[in-house]
Amino acid sequence: MVHAEGDERAEFDLVVRSRRVVTPEGEGPLAVAVRAGRIAALRPHDAPPPARETVDLGEVALLPGLVDTHVHVNEPGRTHWEGFASATRAAAAGGVTTIVDMPLNALPPTVSVAALEVKRKAAEGQCHVDVGFWGGAIPGNSGELEPLHRAGVFGVKCFLSPSGVDEFPALDRAGLREALRVLAEFDGLMIVHAEDPAVLTDPLGPTYPDFLASRTAEAERRAVEQVIELAAETGARAHIVHVSSASCLEPLRAARRDGVRISAETCPHYLTLTAEEVSGPAYKCCPPIREAANRDALWEGLADGVLMGVVSDHSPSTPDLKVPDFAAAWGGISSLQLGLPAVWTSASARGHGLSAVTRWMAEGPAALVGLPYKGAIRPGADADLVAFDPEAGFTVDAAALHHRNPVSPYHGRALTGVVVRTWLRGRPADLVTPHGRFLTKEGIG
Ligand SMILES: [Zn+2]
Repeated sequence: MVHAEGDERAEFDLVVRSRRVVTPEGEGPLAVAVRAGRIAALRPHDAPPPARETVDLGEVALLPGLVDTHVHVNEPGRTHWEGFASATRAAAAGGVTTIVDMPLNALPPTVSVAALEVKRKAAEGQCHVDVGFWGGAIPGNSGELEPLHRAGVFGVKCFLSPSGVDEFPALDRAGLREALRVLAEFDGLMIVHAEDPAVLTDPLGPTYPDFLASRTAEAERRAVEQVIELAAETGARAHIVHVSSASCLEPLRAARRDGVRISAETCPHYLTLTAEEVSGPAYKCCPPIREAANRDALWEGLADGVLMGVVSDHSPSTPDLKVPDFAAAWGGISSLQLGLPAVWTSASARGHGLSAVTRWMAEGPAALVGLPYKGAIRPGADADLVAFDPEAGFTVDAAALHHRNPVSPYHGRALTGVVVRTWLRGRPADLVTPHGRFLTKEGIG
């Protein structure tokens, strides 16, 4: 990476040159010109305009900052699991410049405007990347959904099965229908943890096969079918978070063909890890990591677009909760800082390029939450940029990550792809100065 100081009176603040700039049109040599925190122009690589600072990345790629719409920050209340400072440092170091925080695992859960204000206050002044918030839909709070939207959440999340924390109970079928009806009135988005509690069972023993057998593909598929049915009935927009079972893909494809307003995401661990290689409770999450053949089918779902994106579901806890008994261990995987190299390592081996990975990890999630100025290198967008060396490799050391707790199923794995530098709205994310902003849903209220 070569820096050059430029003309103080130049038209642009920063120009980043790379032979591999990834834009919505594809990958190629360009000079990206930044002014006042936004991408002002894309110019030929060999004719960069004058700027106050020029960075030449050579063969190191330039991607848009990733958008991770599925992060459990856990502050306030469980800040010892993860907090805004540590989570957003990990995000910036991992090339993620926008996160959207989940409404549960912090205390209070984000199920009212008052709780949203508590969370914003806790996050204030600590964020190294831009941060938005999801609200929560729980039994009895359907009257809070519109106020939450007016206060700026990007949508609301619900569970159909127990969430893992008592303060965030699941919706039953009637509760889901009611929440969707309310959301449909103002075109709100419902995001759903889809496992059918009528199909889930208690694990018969402490091993991973026992745990996996207790949370079957059928439990996921039946819950997804229920969401499809109620989204079709109410006209509301629904999104399935963290699809683990490929058995959900065919119902989702059919629903989308029928015009049901439904989308779905998956996560790095379902695409890169398999049940066969699970070696400890760091791998436990819900729904579970399944067999290799299922993983391969999820890649097909990404390739044909029924899965719109890949987001982390970063859901850490303290190490003491990751007990060896899979039935009792905390269910959640830490990967905020590792999503890009984890996905790139597998994607490149499967013949996918940087454009596809960018579509899944930046453009798709930005579109889900309606952030047209995030997730792509195009004039007018925020200058959220990531210098990514797609050829370099490293071995994961969980203790060296910015995550608050050193627990990760990727520990010891060799991954390909190194984040060299991250810019947030044109400024280097130095992990010292928190200049992240709060993002809100626009056009509401
Ligand atoms: Zn989650």
